[in-house]
Amino acid sequence: MFIGHYAAGLALKSVEKKASLGMLFIAVQLLDYLFFTLAPLGIEKFNLVKNYTAVNHYQIYYYPYSHGLLAAFLWSGAVYILWRSLFSATGRKVALVMALAVLSHWLLDLIVHTPDLPLLGNDSLKVGFGLWHYFAATYIVEVSLLVGALMLYLRATTAIGTMGKYAMIIFVIVMIAIYTVVVNTPFNPDQTVAAASFAALAVFTVFTAVAFWLDRYRV
Ligand SMILES: [Zn+2]
Repeated sequence: MFIGHYAAGLALKSVEKKASLGMLFIAVQLLDYLFFTLAPLGIEKFNLVKNYTAVNHYQIYYYPYSHGLLAAFLWSGAVYILWRSLFSATGRKVALVMALAVLSHWLLDLIVHTPDLPLLGNDSLKVGFGLWHYFAATYIVEVSLLVGALMLYLRATTAIGTMGKYAMIIFVIVMIAIYTVVVNTPFNPDQTVAAASFAALAVFTVFTAVAFWLDRYRV
């Protein structure tokens, strides 16, 4: 999943407004930040295979540290402990929301991935409902999640000025536009795992920076 992960960030922000939207945007993609960092290092592994699924070319075959269910729980727990120890003033609910944001990544990936998500280590049972084999269904689910979460966010928060009124709506439209371009980009046989990983990390980082920026315009 791609933009659908940010739906979890917006939805959790509407539940706990004291949480930073920028931090939530990092948390919902933490497992992919790890994966796309570990993959170029050869610690986790995927191949680029033309039309491996209907929406991308990722044949992922080794990522127990970032995308194992056990690992997801451990990362989520680590984020909870980190928040409780570093940002204890913001309260227990913020830490809980941050931990849930991390865990949401695995649950949303479960819907779309082919059965490549290990429950424990790499040799354990691998799961994934395979929505990625269906282009239209994947697109509708990702966009609907994001638009639905945007509505929750707009209802739960109050705009400060014109920026607060319109900027987040425009940002979501831009995210959907970028997603539309990404899933329609033809396979590039010259692209390497490292280049694909850096491109993903760059997009995540830009989205996160915008979330930090826009957070102050709605309270
Ligand atoms: Zn993922």
